[in-house]
Amino acid sequence: MAAKSKENRILVTLACVECRERNYITEKNKRNDPDRMEFRKYCPRCREHRLHRETK
Ligand SMILES: [Zn+2]
Repeated sequence: MAAKSKENRILVTLACVECRERNYITEKNKRNDPDRMEFRKYCPRCREHRLHRETK
C-alpha cells in the first residue's frame, strides 16, 4: 500500500531570491517547519549558489 500523505506534509516550491526562478520543489512537514524555509542551492539562471525561499 502506497504511503498516504498526511495533511501536515505539504509540497513547497523554492524560488531563487535574486531572479525569482522556481528551481526546486520539496516536501516539508508543516508541524516541524511552520515558517518559510530557506536553502542555499544552485540557481541555473544565476549560475551561482543563491538563497532559495519557499513560495506560495
Ligand atoms: Zn537565480
